[in-house]
Amino acid sequence: MSSQGSSKIGSTKGGRDPFWAHGEKVEEKDTNRIRCRYCAQIVSGGISRLKNHLAGQRGNVRPCSKVPDDVKSQATSSLSSSLVNKQAKMARQAREDANTYIARWVYEAGVPFNVCALPSFDHMLQAIGKVGPGLRGPSIYDLREKHLKKEVVYSIIFNAKFWADVELSISIFAPLVKVLRRADGDEPSMGWLYGDMLKAKEEIALALENKEARYLPIWKLIDARWQSKLSTPLHLAGYFLNPFFYYSSWESVERDGRFMDSIIECMSKMYARNTSIQDRISDQICLYRNQEGSFGRDAAKRQRCSNSLNLGKKNFFCMSNIIYLQSKFSFTQLFVFLVNWWKLHANSAPELKDMAIRVLSLTTSSSGCERNWSTFEMVICFTFLYLQ
Ligand SMILES: [Zn+2]
Repeated sequence: MSSQGSSKIGSTKGGRDPFWAHGEKVEEKDTNRIRCRYCAQIVSGGISRLKNHLAGQRGNVRPCSKVPDDVKSQATSSLSSSLVNKQAKMARQAREDANTYIARWVYEAGVPFNVCALPSFDHMLQAIGKVGPGLRGPSIYDLREKHLKKEVVYSIIFNAKFWADVELSISIFAPLVKVLRRADGDEPSMGWLYGDMLKAKEEIALALENKEARYLPIWKLIDARWQSKLSTPLHLAGYFLNPFFYYSSWESVERDGRFMDSIIECMSKMYARNTSIQDRISDQICLYRNQEGSFGRDAAKRQRCSNSLNLGKKNFFCMSNIIYLQSKFSFTQLFVFLVNWWKLHANSAPELKDMAIRVLSLTTSSSGCERNWSTFEMVICFTFLYLQ
């Protein structure tokens, strides 16, 4: 057929499109205007437009009235496959563009290339794709204040090491919190705070597996603040005059000169103008230390570490007794136990008894405790740094 032959010559696409068989060029060098082989209508717009005509697609061109059915269906499927091809090509181009922009951004921002291997990178691309065209990125402010902060929280929550650290931190701070909370009240706590803090330090060491390299830095931090605030002569005297502590840690108290210095200092201040009372108290301190006079009676010894103070429990002894007492009772209740002990068993030492009751009835100043809370915060910061 002549029309087939001429279409092959005239086609801009090398005559490869088989639909040139169904039309012919109106003029030899013009591939735009094609005459339909069936109805002789002239179609402007090249071979694609001829396909529209043959397929009977309305819109750009009038449908062919004489096209055979098989040609019509060929034209229809050719048009739809070329639409698919066109879409695929556009998609390939869009993907190529996206990759170019990603590469440009990575290059300009100096981002390490391997970030593209992160799962979060893939999540980001998927999410952007879902939004589709027109997505605007977050502002710098939103990124910093809102999204990045949220991410930090998210990464902390899903970080196993963080939670292990929190657990350890709690085991370190719980003992301190307990001491400071008790110290913050208005109850007579002077006989207990120093011992409480010693116990807290022991608990912290235990939480750190008694490894010096781990607990000593924290102890030092506590001591640095605490020694000026809770380790006053009054607190040391309170520890000394608490028979529950004194006799159970007799050796270390006697070895540590600060306790005796503190007792003498408190006595000198409390009875500044009465040297004869001072002298009597000094003698009576010796009775107390040596468990002589009324202090030496079996009942006095028993009741400073047994259940004789009507605590409702039988047969618990010195240190465990103290721990039990401290966890079970308020400072006011503990104070009553101490005062009862002194009233019952200090008749050989009436002046020391009065002094002991006065010292033991003191509260710990709340301002001092506020300073200790800030020490506590410092310990928290330190521990987090130290754990990392
Ligand atoms: Zn036609």
